[in-house]
Amino acid sequence: MACNILRHCKLCNLTARIVNTVASRNLHSSSNEKADIVISGGGMVGTAMACALGHVDDLQDKRIILLESAPEKKNFHLSERYSNRTCAISPATVSLFQSIGAWDEILQMRCQPVKSMQVWESCSDSLITFNDEELMNDLAYIVENDVILEALRQRLSALSDRVEVQYQTAAKSYVIPGSTPGHDGVDQNTWVTIETDKGQSIQTKLMIGADGMNSAVRKAGKFHVFQKDYKQQAVVATLEVSGTSDNSVAWQRFLPTGPIAMLPLSNQYSCLIWTTTPGKAKYLKDLADDSFVDEVNDAFWHERDKNSTVMSLSHKYQEILNFVFTDNQEVRQLPPTVIGVNPGSRASFPLSLVHASNYIKPRVALIGDAAHRLHPLAGQGVNLGFGDVSCLCRTVTEAVLSGSDVGSLYYLTQYETERQRAVIPVVLTIHGLHHLYSTDFSPMVLLRSLGLQSTNSFQFVKNKIIQQASS
Ligand SMILES: Cc1cc2nc3c(=O)[nH]c(=O)nc-3n(C[C@H](O)[C@H](O)[C@H](O)COP(=O)(O)OP(=O)(O)OC[C@H]3O[C@@H](n4cnc5c(N)ncnc54)[C@H](O)[C@@H]3O)c2cc1C
Repeated sequence: MACNILRHCKLCNLTARIVNTVASRNLHSSSNEKADIVISGGGMVGTAMACALGHVDDLQDKRIILLESAPEKKNFHLSERYSNRTCAISPATVSLFQSIGAWDEILQMRCQPVKSMQVWESCSDSLITFNDEELMNDLAYIVENDVILEALRQRLSALSDRVEVQYQTAAKSYVIPGSTPGHDGVDQNTWVTIETDKGQSIQTKLMIGADGMNSAVRKAGKFHVFQKDYKQQAVVATLEVSGTSDNSVAWQRFLPTGPIAMLPLSNQYSCLIWTTTPGKAKYLKDLADDSFVDEVNDAFWHERDKNSTVMSLSHKYQEILNFVFTDNQEVRQLPPTVIGVNPGSRASFPLSLVHASNYIKPRVALIGDAAHRLHPLAGQGVNLGFGDVSCLCRTVTEAVLSGSDVGSLYYLTQYETERQRAVIPVVLTIHGLHHLYSTDFSPMVLLRSLGLQSTNSFQFVKNKIIQQASS
């Protein structure tokens, strides 16, 4: 009720802000502080969370703190050289960025639209293409992680009266209700206590864990986790390409050792994400530039030995599909030729699946990689994290508007239910695709070839996939 009144009264809002700011300053100087919401982790997801909460007028009397262990990146300079860390950003993420004013900042720096996508495999001739011809929409945008983070940080600095950001401050320990040994029941009135490496002790009504795949919040809260090491590495690099005047296609080819993807950065450059065995990853990183370029072109272009039975069955099936769907004459496009690799841009990352069975506990919510870390083959990881941000921001606001506490378990449960309904199917699909394509066993190759050919022929199925990936 109080909150509803506050929402409509500008004078009350102003007074609340002044009181809050004064209180914050006083509290900040002491080592025992109180906050309504603390976000631990200012990566892409945690910073977006801070921006989203800071944008809600109904939360402006709440004290919100963002803790980030890394130093603040002052005077960001957009290097002419593209970074090797990039993300394919979905239209739903673009909408979130637009709502917090970060999309314009990204457009002012740089990003590249993806207008279509071709996915094919090396063990057969089957392929699938995606484009949103009907709606003429871009499928995704390739944006460097640094650009996303800088855009979000710029927005956050404009919200300094609503969100306190403490860089170079790591949360060292957390005491979470119900997670202390010997603590039988969960007392909703007990707040989460955070000790930082700066000697502060902060008590908060809602602790948001955005501290990445090795989340300390998740560990302190004793969240049960499903974890699988894929025993694969993703090799990334910035590639120079030729043979295209409109570099707007995302290419992905499934090799038996894992998928290789080339995503457009500009007409001249693309980024590489090559999933492979740890041994091959080391070999690729150690190669001379010319040899590395040859390996990449070979991985995209080279025709491998194919099983003749699989090939003949899948060709016959394609003829039937072409007969039934007369406009189904799919033309295979060829990816651009790689002519160079930016010096020093090669790096590799171990890949694993991490999924917390719960995303919430009393007064705690996990978002982003702290809740779910995926194989990058579908470029969904951070998009799901941004989906968490939109959902949690909405449910926290609803809690406050209904007169409840920001850490209300009832509203946190809504967040968890909604996000698990969205995230778990994606996790299972990506995990399944990884296994389906990690073999050259002929019956499996046949199965996936027929599946890919069928999916490619049914436009409504493809539209559904595009819709799903965009949301
Ligand atoms: C090769 C590769 C390619 C990818 N491509 C895509 C893609 O195309 N599309 C996509 O959607 N996703 C992609 N991803 C996934 C994406 O990169 C991650 O999902 C994303 O980076 C997760 O962001 P986050 O903010 O949740 O976590 P992080 O980026 O890990 O951020 C966590 C932050 O918390 C801070 N922190 C940690 N502990 C503490 C503490 N105790 N106190 C304070 N701060 C702390 C850290 O300093 C860090 O800043 C890819 C991943 C890889 C490896």
